[in-house]
Amino acid sequence: MQIERDGTEDFTCTHCGAVYEMSETPAHDTGSAACEVCNMIMMKWVDSAIPLFRAKKSIEDAKRRYLFLGPSSTSRRVAAE
Ligand SMILES: [Zn+2]
Repeated sequence: MQIERDGTEDFTCTHCGAVYEMSETPAHDTGSAACEVCNMIMMKWVDSAIPLFRAKKSIEDAKRRYLFLGPSSTSRRVAAE
């Protein structure tokens, strides 16, 4: 558990469950952030602090799981036998 807090908090993508570390930047703007794993918009902000997302280590697992279970997995199945 991390005791030191420098304004970051965990953010979980509601679409695929990928976990990011989120921190706010001093800059204000309007925009959105797409998930690295599922490419869905996971957050939008309007004239407020721009959040910065940093993928956590477990995102590789989330990505693998998503690619394995995702809708595209059937078309790119590899014949291993
Ligand atoms: Zn996602």
